[in-house]
Amino acid sequence: MKPKSVIVIGAGIGGIVAAIHLARYGLKVTVFEKTSRPGGRCNRFSRDGHHFDTGPTLLIMPLVYQQEFAALGASLHEMLHLQRVDPTYHLVFDDGQYLALTSDMKSMQEQLEAFEPGSFSSFLRYMNEGYQHYYLGMERLVNQDFRQPSDFFRFSNLPLLFSMKPLTNHYHHMSGYFDDPRLKAAFTFQDIYMGLSPFEAPATFSMTPYTELAHGVWYPKGGMYSIVEALMQLAGRAGVEFQFVAPVDRIEVNGNQAEGIVLTDGRYIEGDVLLANADLPYVYRNLLPYDGESEKMAQKRFSCSVISFFWAVDKPYEQLNPHTLFLADDYRENFESIIQDLKLPTNPCLYVHAPARLDPSMAPKGQDTLIAIVPVGHLSEQEPQDWAEIRDCARQHVFRRLKTLGISDLEAHLKFEVNYTPLSWSRRYNLMKGSTHGLAHNLMQLGYFRPHNRHSHYHNLYFVGASTHPGTGIPTAMVSGRLAAERIKDELQY
Ligand SMILES: Cc1cc2nc3c(=O)[nH]c(=O)nc-3n(C[C@H](O)[C@H](O)[C@H](O)COP(=O)(O)OP(=O)(O)OC[C@H]3O[C@@H](n4cnc5c(N)ncnc54)[C@H](O)[C@@H]3O)c2cc1C
Repeated sequence: MKPKSVIVIGAGIGGIVAAIHLARYGLKVTVFEKTSRPGGRCNRFSRDGHHFDTGPTLLIMPLVYQQEFAALGASLHEMLHLQRVDPTYHLVFDDGQYLALTSDMKSMQEQLEAFEPGSFSSFLRYMNEGYQHYYLGMERLVNQDFRQPSDFFRFSNLPLLFSMKPLTNHYHHMSGYFDDPRLKAAFTFQDIYMGLSPFEAPATFSMTPYTELAHGVWYPKGGMYSIVEALMQLAGRAGVEFQFVAPVDRIEVNGNQAEGIVLTDGRYIEGDVLLANADLPYVYRNLLPYDGESEKMAQKRFSCSVISFFWAVDKPYEQLNPHTLFLADDYRENFESIIQDLKLPTNPCLYVHAPARLDPSMAPKGQDTLIAIVPVGHLSEQEPQDWAEIRDCARQHVFRRLKTLGISDLEAHLKFEVNYTPLSWSRRYNLMKGSTHGLAHNLMQLGYFRPHNRHSHYHNLYFVGASTHPGTGIPTAMVSGRLAAERIKDELQY
């Protein structure tokens, strides 16, 4: 019997993972990718011996990676050479104080007690809560496919309303642990990865600082793009076919079926099943026929965006640790500017990554490769922002903040700079509003309420990736790929 064919639109993490599973089930899978390489947001560029991960820089939730590589018939630790990054982050506050987040409890105790006497025991309580949220969240929310309401609205899920604190505000909740606003910030800034401000995020997300310290933040040799390379090896073995520089112009539908795709070069390709990995709101607005759904999707909450600077420097800055985070005193104002006003905050929190501290091959000998990321609002359709001006302002903020670490000559030592603004994210990967993390993970866009992995009308059109269930991040996109593939397999009765 001829195998059924699946067309995957987009070679992001979710698309590649789903494609591997489907090919392993025996389906004929072809992936059409707009750009010239796989990986989507998880990407890399190299120039003059400097290697830059352009998207993710943190391998967090290693247990999920292990689980998902195993589901693909592979071993994470055999495919990637991983090293643990500890301290995970070096936090720098406006007053010049530092806090190195580490799983060395002795060091944590000394540091935390110096900030606020008694805070170490509060930290341990907070980690314990994060532990509960993490394991419950993984079991009951992330690894579940909510195909119908009864999969979610179950009596057995009711206790989650109490045990996972989805209705409790994360930042306010921190008052039960710490008085010092710097400590409240140190254990809530991770909410931005979910596209949320800690002032609106559910306390459920204490799971992130927990997993970062308990399971570790890791770094694959060669950088985060090695994950994509490993997945591409598995895709090759499974027999997935890829077509690059093959942008899809539209999805052809008939009745309640998706029949195929039309590429921008006019080619028409038929498929038994279609799986869209391109950003979900973009798929509704740009690839599907108009039916009013795209407006509803555009009304949803989107995550923020970022301005990224990729700097090649002609000398090493050893005082920069692998992951340095500058946290601003005006923490609340930071999130309000980014999330409500869609602006650059006046004193932005920002992040600097120095990959050569972990893997010297990321920069030529005696030089450095630096990545600075400044969170900003996403693209505004009502009042388009001046991104060139905002980018230049953001760059000056990074230079200013680096002076706290005694780095005042970076500008003079730049060999070259490449930068991405929200416009770049939108144009490169078709991310709606340039939102780097897709749809935000607020309560009404989580679990059953997050867009599902199948279209409600076109029954053979499926979705995978950051804006779908379970959500953003590489590990979660891998779960999304597996869940979508399992659903396709079940519904095709393959
Ligand atoms: C700056 C930044 C930092 C991040 N940091 C981290 C981190 O440290 N750790 C972490 O785990 N996660 C991080 N993330 C999130 C993570 O990168 C994403 O959640 C994940 O990569 C999303 O994968 P996806 O499956 O949604 O695919 P995407 O990356 O969205 O890929 C979709 C693909 O579809 C293609 N496409 C779009 N339109 C079309 C079309 N019409 N035709 C054909 N192809 C099309 C795109 O070119 C793209 O390749 C970060 C993201 C960004 C942007």
